[in-house]
Amino acid sequence: MKDYSEIQCPSCQGKILIDPKLLIQGSSFSCSNQSCDVSISLSSASHQVAESAMKKFEQLKQNIN
Ligand SMILES: [Zn+2]
Repeated sequence: MKDYSEIQCPSCQGKILIDPKLLIQGSSFSCSNQSCDVSISLSSASHQVAESAMKKFEQLKQNIN
């Protein structure tokens, strides 16, 4: 089961792998681009990014059920 989502980094357009469950619990996830220091969390992410992650999480839940 795929338990992570891939979102686009708002800074470098690279990939950020997030686990929506951990994101909701307050974890932060860093951009996979070593030279980019963006990290995503519910408290620091732009609403757009957090919203996109939440939508993917909802889709994941629907796929499970
Ligand atoms: Zn980045």
